[in-house]
Amino acid sequence: MSMQTVLAVARFLRDVPVARNPLSVVWHAGEPLTAPISFYEGAFERMLEASTPLQHNFQTNATLITDAWCGLIRKWSVQVGVSIDGPKFIHDAHRVDRAGSGTFDRVMRGINKLREHGIPFSVLAVVTAASVNAPDEIWHFFKSLGTSRIALNIEESEGAHKSSSLGGTQTEAFKRFLSRLAELQFADPSMSVRELDNMRRHLSCRVGAQVHRSDNRPGAIINIDINGNITTFSPELLGVEHARYGKFVWGNVHQNCWTDLLANPGFRAAHEDIARGVEQCRQTCPYFLLCGGGSPSNKLFEHESFSVADTQYCRFQIQSVADVVMEKMEAELELKGTGSYLPDQAI
Ligand code: SF4
Repeated sequence: MSMQTVLAVARFLRDVPVARNPLSVVWHAGEPLTAPISFYEGAFERMLEASTPLQHNFQTNATLITDAWCGLIRKWSVQVGVSIDGPKFIHDAHRVDRAGSGTFDRVMRGINKLREHGIPFSVLAVVTAASVNAPDEIWHFFKSLGTSRIALNIEESEGAHKSSSLGGTQTEAFKRFLSRLAELQFADPSMSVRELDNMRRHLSCRVGAQVHRSDNRPGAIINIDINGNITTFSPELLGVEHARYGKFVWGNVHQNCWTDLLANPGFRAAHEDIARGVEQCRQTCPYFLLCGGGSPSNKLFEHESFSVADTQYCRFQIQSVADVVMEKMEAELELKGTGSYLPDQAI
């Protein structure tokens, strides 16, 4: 991304009506640390022009982290998420370089640099067929890294990645995996598991409260590519071309403001279809209040349409998580011998 585009992004963000306290900027998609440190020094300086508080985040595979990167991260208080799937035998089963070699040792070198510099990091792990039967190994490995927060993404059929090693039939195995993680977390609550903790929060809300997803609401996530092209909804849509929708590019930071994007016919067509899909979810799915109507990119990649409800992704990432967490909460209530759930006693 050129510095002119960075400046244009800053100006675009200044005028866009999104939540800011602070506004979270995630350098993601591909490996962000392949750009030089000097790029980020320049970009962060220029983005101060956005005159809105910004929180920068790197989602990185950590293989390129050095002392100099740690200096930048500390200087700008960048939040770091590391993509690592578990111990070596799990991580290297899927995360390989272009020569086909596992990247685990290089990831660990980067993580050790972060630890040397006292930089906290969260972990983003993809759950694959290699990990679904190894919850204990995964839990203890992440505990040993010293991270306090892990997030689990199931391996998805998405974009160029046409099939998942989990297939569509391993939801029971995934539930057993989650259930064991919940037991381990109950015994040692010092590490947050995003999926379990978010679902507990959702289930502890007042009756009738509804979860809203950021990826099916316009403007909740704004995605900008290196040329300044803009889209919204699921980040995975940026860079994809579809027979019905064309490219999911509805503006450019050099020429357009947010209201131009809202008037773009491509955006309006996608928005209408996404809203139809959410409505189908509302009408048909008992998990709707806990989900908010699903991820548009998964609907499109799995069904070639936004106007659908159920996906393989949501059966794992929403329905299975909800089943496991509800079962655990009900078991807790039985233990306590009470008929009502008290959120402040959540595990
Ligand atoms: S769980 Fe699936 S079907 Fe149910 S509301 Fe969510 S996306 Fe729609």
